[in-house]
Amino acid sequence: MSYCASRFHTVRRTTREVRVGSVGVGGPQPIRVQSMTTSDTQDVAATVRQSIALAEVGCEIVRITAPNVAAARCLRDIRRDFTAAGFGHIPLVADIHFLPAAAMEAVEHVEKVRINPGNYADKKKFAVREYTDSAYEEELQRLHESFTPLVLRCRELGRALRIGTNHGSLSDRIMNRYGDTPLGMVESALEFLRIAEAHSFRDIILSMKSSNPKVMIQAYRLLVERMAREDMHYPLHLGVTEAGDGEDGRIKSAIGIGSLLLDGLGDTIRVSLTEDSVYEIPVARAIAAKAMSRWRPAAEATAASAADGIDPYQFKRRDSAVVELSAGCRVGGDQPPRVIVRVKSAVALSDAARELASPRLADTPAEGLLIPVTTPGDLAELCATAARTELPAEFLVLEVAPTLTPDLLQPLLALTRGKLVLLRRFAAADAETLAAFAALAARHGHFVACDAEADEIPALAPVIKGPDGARLWFTLGGAAPTGDEAHPTGRYRRLAEALRAAGPKAPIWIRNTAATAAGPGNDFLSRLLEASFLTGGLLCDGVGDLVSVETEPDPVRATRLAYNVLQGAGARISKTEFVACPSCGRTLFDLQTTTQRIRAQTGHLKGVKIAIMGCIVNGPGEMADADFGYVGGAPGKINLYVGRTCVQYNIPQAEADARLIALIREHGRWVDPSPASA
Ligand code: SF4
Repeated sequence: MSYCASRFHTVRRTTREVRVGSVGVGGPQPIRVQSMTTSDTQDVAATVRQSIALAEVGCEIVRITAPNVAAARCLRDIRRDFTAAGFGHIPLVADIHFLPAAAMEAVEHVEKVRINPGNYADKKKFAVREYTDSAYEEELQRLHESFTPLVLRCRELGRALRIGTNHGSLSDRIMNRYGDTPLGMVESALEFLRIAEAHSFRDIILSMKSSNPKVMIQAYRLLVERMAREDMHYPLHLGVTEAGDGEDGRIKSAIGIGSLLLDGLGDTIRVSLTEDSVYEIPVARAIAAKAMSRWRPAAEATAASAADGIDPYQFKRRDSAVVELSAGCRVGGDQPPRVIVRVKSAVALSDAARELASPRLADTPAEGLLIPVTTPGDLAELCATAARTELPAEFLVLEVAPTLTPDLLQPLLALTRGKLVLLRRFAAADAETLAAFAALAARHGHFVACDAEADEIPALAPVIKGPDGARLWFTLGGAAPTGDEAHPTGRYRRLAEALRAAGPKAPIWIRNTAATAAGPGNDFLSRLLEASFLTGGLLCDGVGDLVSVETEPDPVRATRLAYNVLQGAGARISKTEFVACPSCGRTLFDLQTTTQRIRAQTGHLKGVKIAIMGCIVNGPGEMADADFGYVGGAPGKINLYVGRTCVQYNIPQAEADARLIALIREHGRWVDPSPASA
């Protein structure tokens, strides 16, 4: 059973509609945007102020932490004052961890309660033990007893519930039986869902969050597939936890949330950023608008909805052949995806080369330069520039116009040192031309990037399987064929499937171009989101050997964006990875400035993962697989972790940065920053 109606078109999953106060979630409703306050909940005035600020920028549902019964009691006053300020139509949600008593108090005052199935009835001890079936049953019985009163009260009061699973805080029971896996996350939610259903309570929304977009994507897909088997159709709340801040936080969120929305999953979203929560809303709204602009009626998708060969529940990189471009640059196979940067024209090559040679890009170089070549004059210009310019790239890709025949290209190919790639559109009727290009490339040791739709692959197959077929890469650059409403991700999935069916293991190059972009907006955020949706989503499916963000005109920014998307998808690590919680009423230090300060000192540690978490209540559980953790232990005090083990308690915050760096050194993970990155 599949988790979505189509992997190629965005056909929205049909769900029941859950009313959260006056706001409908799921069913025919638009994707709802939500966020969370970060003030101390017991500071009623501050929490109301933050709720109003969120509502004023378009937040449709506001969540507030209720870390204890006293805070839960304050929700009554917050609800009253928020309503009095004119926001009675915006529902409030209580965020509960650990304390059923706080949930029972909160449900009296707000429209929805979020519980974490990993800790609602369990204390996290990281204990390893074997559960017999009967011991497991006893545990479930205990869950039943803890959770039932809340379910019954929600039913009586007409409240909604979110069963919000987090990858980092699964119960010991689930960890011991299913491990730290998407399946464990799904089972964790289903245990609670079945209890609610046993009481005929169905006003439930589910989430499966993780700081790792791949894990989060797989968990949501698996959840939907499992629910469909049990005839359950609950709406989904999507989010990537601890995504961090700035460009990285936006990219990670957009990869996870965007991939699922493109497959038609998701009814309400939260973009968690380590920034003031009002900054989350424009990002969430832009993501939702892009996804909704792609919604298609189910009937449109059925004709072309054959399955592809990708296992959506288990990450595996697509099997592709390795191509050697230079001693330092190979493409395909287990090589990291390579970055290509577009240069406006042959004339602009010198300037772009100078900018891209910046020491700031020393660790993240543009490996290929893509240059449009339309006329023989462009070719001459390119030859002259290439001869006098030191190119800061391993290879050149020439996007050649159809008027440039192999004969015209011959002189450049013969002259050029290093490898060239000829990029050109090849339709089904162009098999002969493709053969001529492949032969020309082969003669000079170069390559051809074949821009062809999946439907055209069978007609081109004789060349692809022929003697020069190993010189071909595949990509999509142009607009979708008329009448094809598939989204760009779907077109690339089809292309991967067509190549698999035809046999070759040619590398696939994911291009973000104006033609693959869609939906409202063409500012930097919009370009970042598009790149995250398309490139990040495909990389999380295991597809992609080269990437380019051609929608971004500035070559330095385009390079940085491509590397950041690769990092966000976990496909190529070029810097330290930060897992930073978005902060909430429990936070014990200023997360934003602390994150920025720690990043400034440790951001060059390629492959090291550092978690910065605001409290010890949830922080250690949510850090998932971080190598080192910086966690608020008490006001002004920090606890430091190596993996999941706390190794230094209650350090004065003023000393904590230096101690963290010392710890990283002690564990052999420190390197001094290069002069360029310093
Ligand atoms: S880890 Fe951060 S967001 Fe989570 S409860 Fe603690 S302070 Fe709040």
